[in-house]
Amino acid sequence: MKADSLGGSAPVTVLAGPTAVGKGTVSAAIRASYPEIYLSVSATTRAPRPGEIDGVHYHFVSDEQFTRMIEEGEFLEWAQVHGKHRYGTPRSSVTAAARDGRPVLLEIDLAGARQIRKTMPEARFVFLAPPSWDVLVDRLVGRGTETAEERERRLVTAREELAAESEFDVTIVNDSVARATRELADVMGVTRPAQ
Ligand code: 5GP
Repeated sequence: MKADSLGGSAPVTVLAGPTAVGKGTVSAAIRASYPEIYLSVSATTRAPRPGEIDGVHYHFVSDEQFTRMIEEGEFLEWAQVHGKHRYGTPRSSVTAAARDGRPVLLEIDLAGARQIRKTMPEARFVFLAPPSWDVLVDRLVGRGTETAEERERRLVTAREELAAESEFDVTIVNDSVARATRELADVMGVTRPAQ
């Protein structure tokens, strides 16, 4: 496998954790409050949800486009998530941001984090954990955006993902989005700009 060392440039931080733990919410808070952090925009084959903007939240691509991107080596990592759609981290924008000296955040699933561990061992791996399993199940059910079948599939994935915590360098418990976001920025060596 190709190594993707970034040399002496700013480190890449990988944020992973079980489904519905709030990775998306914490990343959105990072995007809003810490503009110096480059939040990688993934490509995905899933359709946009209401309010999602192409090029901001994801690059929404067709299955054919995604396959072409894999063939052309455009991804640092990619994975099929929840056995359904494919998601991938574009290599060029991440390396460009890191070379510009910006701290880079990748919000990806566990399979993607494991690929990055192999190709970019100098990256920092942060696990976002729920306060408890029951809270996680409540959040998953409470979100109400998935069918029962989809929810069951996500719970199976979540159980496996929770068991992976020990593979990570740092665990942040998401009992408060504001605190978890601050802790993540802190781990990335970024302090909030004065307001
Ligand atoms: P959603 O469809 O809810 O936005 O995201 C579903 C899952 O895909 C989340 O767990 C998210 O972390 C993961 N994901 C988003 N982008 C990427 C990516 O580029 N690579 C990988 N491996 N997973 C991703």
